[in-house]
Amino acid sequence: MISAHAELASTPLLAPKESAALAAAGLVTAEDVLQWFPKRHEDRRRFDAFPMQQGAHPVCLRGTVVDASLRHFGPGRKFYEAVVMDGSGGLFGSGKVTCRWFNMPFIQKLIASGHEVVLYGKVKEAGGRLVIDHPEFEIIRDDEGPSIHVERIVPIYRNVSGIAQRRLREIVHLLLLQVDPATLDWCHEVAPGSSRAEDFRKVHFPESLEESTHSKRRFALEEFFSLQLNVVWRRARHDDYPGRVQGVRTTLLKRFYESLPFDLTGAQKRSIKEIIADLRSPRAMNRLLQGDVGSGKTFVAMASMLLAVDSGSQAALMAPTQILAEQHFLTFKRWLEPLGVRITLLTAAREESTHLPLDGEAQMVIGTHALLHDRVAFQDLGLVVIDEQHKFGVSQRGRLIDQGVMPDVLVMTATPIPRTLTLTIYGDLDVSILDEKPAGRAKIVTALRTAAKQSDINKFVKAQLDEGRQAYFVYPLVEESETLKAESVMEAFPKWQKRLPGREVGLLHGKIPPEEKERVMQRFREGEIAALVSTTVIEVGVDVPNASVMILHHAERFGLAQLHQLRGRIGRGGHKGYCILLTDGKSPEAMEKLKVLEQTSDGFEIAEADLRLRGPGDVLGTMQSGASELRFVEFLSDIALIREARALADQVLAEDPKLDSVHSRLAPLVQPGQETELRRD
Ligand code: ADP
Ligand code: MG
Repeated sequence: MISAHAELASTPLLAPKESAALAAAGLVTAEDVLQWFPKRHEDRRRFDAFPMQQGAHPVCLRGTVVDASLRHFGPGRKFYEAVVMDGSGGLFGSGKVTCRWFNMPFIQKLIASGHEVVLYGKVKEAGGRLVIDHPEFEIIRDDEGPSIHVERIVPIYRNVSGIAQRRLREIVHLLLLQVDPATLDWCHEVAPGSSRAEDFRKVHFPESLEESTHSKRRFALEEFFSLQLNVVWRRARHDDYPGRVQGVRTTLLKRFYESLPFDLTGAQKRSIKEIIADLRSPRAMNRLLQGDVGSGKTFVAMASMLLAVDSGSQAALMAPTQILAEQHFLTFKRWLEPLGVRITLLTAAREESTHLPLDGEAQMVIGTHALLHDRVAFQDLGLVVIDEQHKFGVSQRGRLIDQGVMPDVLVMTATPIPRTLTLTIYGDLDVSILDEKPAGRAKIVTALRTAAKQSDINKFVKAQLDEGRQAYFVYPLVEESETLKAESVMEAFPKWQKRLPGREVGLLHGKIPPEEKERVMQRFREGEIAALVSTTVIEVGVDVPNASVMILHHAERFGLAQLHQLRGRIGRGGHKGYCILLTDGKSPEAMEKLKVLEQTSDGFEIAEADLRLRGPGDVLGTMQSGASELRFVEFLSDIALIREARALADQVLAEDPKLDSVHSRLAPLVQPGQETELRRD
């Protein structure tokens, strides 16, 4: 018996070459190898029948190679093909399938006439034959009786360079027998009373596929537990800092309410109440405000910042882009200057020209990343609002926080996250949700068009402009691209100038210098520019209420969340909005995605659809989050599992807050970097 933590190279179980190959793939100990879970299983007790026609799903076949040869296609290009026949001879005689490997000369050394093989792949028709290109395959020995390779459910692994599939399976099997189960059993908290060693066996060599899934859940729970343990730990460390009590005086807030021409929505009021409670508590606030575009987050931010100012401290708002910071600045000035609040804009572009002193003068500071510069010295920063948090790295968030006493932090995001994922990604934040649209918000009509006539579009746009509205034309590219077949803003801009004679058309993209960008936005806001040809730089937060038309070109190239964000730019001013999604209609997946937008404008519904269509891995991948490194992403939609993990973590840290007594074995799971993060400067 060996220990699960023994380095394989130091045991006599494997050839040195083998342990070296495993180590190169990061599999150093026996447990590392056991954690190399199968990517799928093959039920080799019964194989699929040899197909009669092509099919959409992969099949698993067993047969004999009857012919194998190297073929040519085009000058100097070769492929290797092997014809595999059904050994048993079916009802209609023997089935036959041809396997092909292109530009993989080494395959001919592996597979030859007479071999018995198991194949896995999708069958298609080519040149009147049924073929599988680049199948996964395994040679079965002639004399092979029941073994770990046949006549059972067999694990199939992701490749480890230097170790054949078959040998890898043998190694895992060997280790399951040789590793001392006691050394595998350690995280009892997760599945008390059940053997971890036994679950490893069932994941690799199950009696049924259900058994494998069931055991895999244990390891998923382990992973999520570890994640949640960090989250709860981080939250506890955050609470270790002295916070401040503010928000007791509400004079400014009351005057703000009185000055508004509308009533706040119920959701806005509820969120502000939650924020007030946080501000008044000596524990530092760490709250996420989630709300769709146009749900009124900015007003919640203003209310929160007024409370800080009323307590005599400074409040900062950090936006991800220059345009947004400037827009927020204007909005804040418009609503808050009449109340006598002193507001300053601080962005990289402004900093050099004006050198606005922050000491005491400014009560509110609106800015970009420039706020993070060391030279920005707040006198008494009491509240930090971070807009569009997902555009900031976690460490940047940390940097702003360390200025004296821990300020209260409010993070705002307009990218609704499926509720199932919130706990995973934002588990250390309290969450307020704006799930109610302000009253009187005009409807947006969304239409998906696959072959719209340009002349019809022109007519429609002109009619809208004639009514005094403004329009966005959005394109995926700045410049023409050789590899991507899509129109760019550079190509489209002169065309729109021609199509809309007598109107000013503006151009906006990421390569335009900030000052020019600002000028264009300003002129669009003031209505001098009637239509804007733009890339996605207008994505977040841009607010021009008079703009009511958006035409999204090559809509299939954008993600659902992004399209939803873009669409949120229109229909903000009480005018009916029109969003036209143009696409070639070639990809069924893209069509399914785009149809979601036709059907709903609820950000949370769209986020759920995105999760369903792309899977949690991809959804998380586009957000900055440690969760994107999860191994068991497929379990992320298992809300019960996530809750279980969270409850376990809460329980463990309640029993042993510093992980130095009963649960001390779990201490290595808590990543030390994360607790110091808030202290970093
Ligand atoms: P977000 O920041 O969530 O995108 P904003 O705070 O910018 O949303 O608000 C979007 C628009 O709705 C703004 O034009 C704002 O003036 C208006 N608005 C905000 N709250 C209300 C409300 N309670 N009633 C009516 N209009 C509102
Ligand atoms: Mg906003």
